[in-house]
Amino acid sequence: MNFHEYQAKQLFADYGIAVPAGQVARTADEAVAAAQAIGGDFWVVKAQIHAGGRGKAGGVKLAKTLDQVREYATAMLGTKMETYQTAGVALPIEQVLVTQATDIAKELYLSVLVDRGTQAVTFIASSDGGVEIEKTAEENPDALHTLNVSYVQGLQAYQCRELGFAMGLNAKQVNQLTKIMLGLFKLFNDRDLALVELNPLAILTNGDLAVLDGKVDSDDNAAFRHPDLVALRDIAQEDATEALAREHDLNYVTMDGDIGCMVNGAGLAMATMDVIKLEGGSPANFLDVGGGATKARVTEAFKLILSSDDVRAIFVNIFGGIVRCDMIAEGIIAAVKDVGVRIPVVVRLEGTNVQAGRDLLKSSGLDIISADDINDGARKVVAAAKKAA
Ligand code: GDP
Ligand code: MN
Repeated sequence: MNFHEYQAKQLFADYGIAVPAGQVARTADEAVAAAQAIGGDFWVVKAQIHAGGRGKAGGVKLAKTLDQVREYATAMLGTKMETYQTAGVALPIEQVLVTQATDIAKELYLSVLVDRGTQAVTFIASSDGGVEIEKTAEENPDALHTLNVSYVQGLQAYQCRELGFAMGLNAKQVNQLTKIMLGLFKLFNDRDLALVELNPLAILTNGDLAVLDGKVDSDDNAAFRHPDLVALRDIAQEDATEALAREHDLNYVTMDGDIGCMVNGAGLAMATMDVIKLEGGSPANFLDVGGGATKARVTEAFKLILSSDDVRAIFVNIFGGIVRCDMIAEGIIAAVKDVGVRIPVVVRLEGTNVQAGRDLLKSSGLDIISADDINDGARKVVAAAKKAA
């Protein structure tokens, strides 16, 4: 689950990490009032969306007067913004963060994540920040410093100091970095986070380190332990279909193809997508209805797939181990009757009560293309989608 920059900075502040004074605003008037409350004569107006890359897209503006604060807030609020991180989707700007502006001497990078290779919470730091870290990794890998934290010992202050000196920081900055890292490490563990990214962590012209941007991503599997984090969720920033899927407890990811997939089991769902690709088609989604799928869930899943205008054909690929094929068939029939399907549906059923399931589909009077196995099903659905294109 992703958070807004202003929420991330509040979490940092809760863990003793200094952040520039700032206030979130929903209207231009609030933005001006925020700037007045913050004081000074130089502010940053920042679009709050669940993505970085805002600077280049015009979502981070330096304002030298209150009129400019108003102008920038007005220009951003109520619009949608696309950045290189939003994958072609424009996200709504419903809030702006107004912060005190700072004079930057140099931009650094600092992140915390779980490195699966070493099975350790890991810090990645770079003295070359403000840019895409992937580029630094490719073009200037020596600028990257990695610190794997021992699960047993936890993060030690000397490790932070080592990292700071390796980044070329002076003694005062190293102490500030240590405080930031110890705070982030505690935050990361306490709140079951998946990623924290400070890009940039800046060196100001007065020599101090400052956290100018913050991205936080938390582990959805631990959401039940953190109702306070769940309360920060902003559904307007999320894929609408994925949000709906979550309500129904369905494992769903939107993709950019035109073949809707309904499969039980994550492994079979992946294999189904592979086989569709192999046959020259392109999946519109990943959807695992789960081993314990009920008729109601199958119906919801079907509706979910059909809610996308991009879907030209549907492939239902069910292996009935725990789940019964006749029940799946009932779900499909109920859903098709309920929503009305005008696109081809290819169904491959195998496993428990498969004959009963096939009979139900056959006698339903619905126009369903049945498949013998996964390859046959993929071929048929790819052909159907091509014909409909
Ligand atoms: P992002 O583009 O979405 O990652 O948004 P950031 O918050 O990282 O802002 C983008 C860029 O704006 C930063 O890399 C800085 O160069 C600049 N910026 C952000 N805050 C300030 C500030 O307080 N002062 C100055 N001079 N520049 C800032
Ligand atoms: Mn940034």
